Amino acid sequence: MSYVVLPREILPADGRFGCGPSKVRNEQLDALSGPGRVLLGTSHRQAPVKNLVGRVRSQLSDLFRAPTGYEIIVGNGGSTAFWDAAAFGLIERRAQNLVFGEFGSKFAGAAKAPWLEAPDVREVTAGTRTAAEPVEGVDVYAWPHNETSTGVTAPVKRVHGDEGALTVIDATSAAGGIDFSASEADVYYFAPQKNLGSDGGLWFALVSPAAIERIERIAASGRYIPEFLSLKNALDNSRLNQTLNTPALTTLYLLENQLEWITSHGGLQWADARTRESSGALYEWAEASPVATPFVTNPAERSPVVVTIDFDESVDAAAIAASLRSNGIVDTEPYRKLGRNQLRVATFVSIEPDDVRQLIRSIDYTLERL
Ligand SMILES: *Cc1c(COP(=O)(O)O)cnc(C)c1O
Repeated sequence: MSYVVLPREILPADGRFGCGPSKVRNEQLDALSGPGRVLLGTSHRQAPVKNLVGRVRSQLSDLFRAPTGYEIIVGNGGSTAFWDAAAFGLIERRAQNLVFGEFGSKFAGAAKAPWLEAPDVREVTAGTRTAAEPVEGVDVYAWPHNETSTGVTAPVKRVHGDEGALTVIDATSAAGGIDFSASEADVYYFAPQKNLGSDGGLWFALVSPAAIERIERIAASGRYIPEFLSLKNALDNSRLNQTLNTPALTTLYLLENQLEWITSHGGLQWADARTRESSGALYEWAEASPVATPFVTNPAERSPVVVTIDFDESVDAAAIAASLRSNGIVDTEPYRKLGRNQLRVATFVSIEPDDVRQLIRSIDYTLERL
């Protein structure tokens, strides 16, 4: 394979454009090896780490402008563990799962648990989305705020189904990068290695009073729930600023730094404007390009944080991604299972809009010469 050597003046300052784990800012790493040094390698049952968990919980509440009674809970295992935890401790009888890509599909898989009724799975073609529809007997409505595998975003909007039915949103790649109204969801859960610029291993969820009530009720119902996947256990531990077992302290530390950074710049509104600026530059470029086109055809469904760009047959997108990689511009490959002639670019809040503009120059330069 041949690679194009990019001139220095068009290279982004930071070449990380992957969708997760994604760019961690240098300032976060400096803080980790500076003040963070005294924290790493110390007990998660003592005040310094518990206080860190407490600060992360309250900063997340502030970032999301959490309505009264909403709480941040945390557990180990990332968003994938949360799907199983939800099957055990959040879905009472039946979920409705919107599937417009890999991640929505994985939660639908977890919702097929033998103790539940088969989920009402609403699947649509990749690159589009569908909306929830109230159905009698459904007590959880679930979809991703941002489908990372396709670059489709869906609004966070409460579903008014049966009384007490919960709206449960996978915000793993959206949290901290797309503005939304927290009162429109009962559970807004995520792992922090995407927009929140941290590392993996933990899940967090903003939960409403109705969701808390549901968690308590199912936990008291006698249903078998493994301790590691118990949301009641996570709720009780979170209120004490701890987790059932050892959390990744690095992940917590990097997350706190990122939350301070977003807040100091103006919070979720600032982050939203910044990701829209970055993604907008890419969509605009693709629309004007003779060989590229946004994969998501409806502009209203295009993600501000994960941009997917299709190329026509005259271009080998994999060769572009490989050539960019040889210049230190990494992880622009599409989601593997999607199998398209495509580039996928994260425009998370940590990524500088100027670096996205440099990336566009680098892609153009590569296209002309490959
Ligand atoms: C990355 C991602 C996940 C998986 O997160 P893990 O922490 O690796 O389990 C789930 N949902 C969405 C939308 C994602 O982007």
